[in-house]
Amino acid sequence: MINIKFPFALTLSVCYAIPGRVVSVEGKTVVVDYFGETRKAHAVDCPVRPGEYIYAQGGIIVGQISEAEALPILAAWKERFFELKKVDAELSSASTEARGALGAAIKKAMAGEALSREDMLAVLSTRNPAQLETLYFAANRLRKERLGNACCVHGILEFSNHCRNDCHYCGIRCGNRTLKRYRMDAEEIFEAVGHAADKLGFKAIVLQSGEDSFYKDEMLAAIVKKLHERFGILITLSIGERSRECYRRLYKAGAYGALLRFETTNEALYSRLRPGKKLADRLELIKWLKRMGFVLATGFLIGLPGQTAEDTANDILLTKSLGPDMHSFGPFIPHPITPLASAAKPAQEDVLKAIALSRLADPQAKILVTTALETFGPGARAAGLLAGANSLMINTTPPKYRRLYDLYPGKAGTDEPLEDAVRKAVELLRSLGRAPADLGV
Ligand code: SF4
Repeated sequence: MINIKFPFALTLSVCYAIPGRVVSVEGKTVVVDYFGETRKAHAVDCPVRPGEYIYAQGGIIVGQISEAEALPILAAWKERFFELKKVDAELSSASTEARGALGAAIKKAMAGEALSREDMLAVLSTRNPAQLETLYFAANRLRKERLGNACCVHGILEFSNHCRNDCHYCGIRCGNRTLKRYRMDAEEIFEAVGHAADKLGFKAIVLQSGEDSFYKDEMLAAIVKKLHERFGILITLSIGERSRECYRRLYKAGAYGALLRFETTNEALYSRLRPGKKLADRLELIKWLKRMGFVLATGFLIGLPGQTAEDTANDILLTKSLGPDMHSFGPFIPHPITPLASAAKPAQEDVLKAIALSRLADPQAKILVTTALETFGPGARAAGLLAGANSLMINTTPPKYRRLYDLYPGKAGTDEPLEDAVRKAVELLRSLGRAPADLGV
């Protein structure tokens, strides 16, 4: 692995987004320059003018910064930015030549052609280690060529482990009577987000909970508004199926992102694993969130018992067709206190194949390495990033609650201080030549 030496203090003091200079503004669309590369960002409620400096996350302008503050940060970043690109180029330079159906699928993706269902099934059926390696190289190369080395880093705050639903694959389902439940109050949420944003430089935070009706719409709106007004961050909601009115209200309060997975396209499997729930309702809500203007993250679970390769291909195709700003999918990990306790966990290879195939099928996508992937071991996140992913999630939940957000067993970093998790993530990104930044769309 190639190592670039940066002073640690400098690494941690820089933010998880690089400031950009506004080049032009047309309506709400802003063109931003990052060291000569331009990206577009959306000014939802942050009017800017050419020449000003901004931070963007998920394609949304989340805050401004004065020129006097921006220039030293950019000067510190400039050399690193290009050194990181060199490392990334080196790590993406391996051959992507493969024989047979896999080779044909890779060639198509590289040429910008859409993959057929047959191509996708051929990729998913690949088992040969050398061929798999080529698949990951190809996906990583495509990521580099289409999107460069920016990697957005989101913090996730799990603020309540209460849930009214009983999903068979989930450890915090209401049927789990052994779990100690918690709820963070508005002050605790504010403090935890403040620590992540002010002390550690996070520019994007996901507020996650079970479907917990204790938090009324007005409570959530007040929390979001306060966070939005105080911190220049992208706030993403991961709170399940709430009413459209609730989401509308929270968007107005300043939460511009929504994370809602559809879990599986297999309708029968969906109804069996999510009692009382309908896939069609979930999809309607996801589509509505996109239409509403939310920065949308969606996806599915990999390795559910009864799921087939055809299902996974359909899951990837559906994710793409929903036009998300981020693909978010993770492995099913059986929890001992669920009806699926004795089911098998998928192999790491299954998750990496899904990441790589998602990249081939949707080259422009932001693809997240979920925290659940880390249950496969310390190298899993790096493997995900080298198989085509370009986004990371760090758990910013206070340690006293982290273990209680017990979605699946073996959750990584439950006792780890946040500062250590951040340092490790930055070191990982640096070793892979990725800039911990979100350069917009
Ligand atoms: S998966 Fe989500 S909705 Fe289902 S029980 Fe778990 S937290 Fe609740």
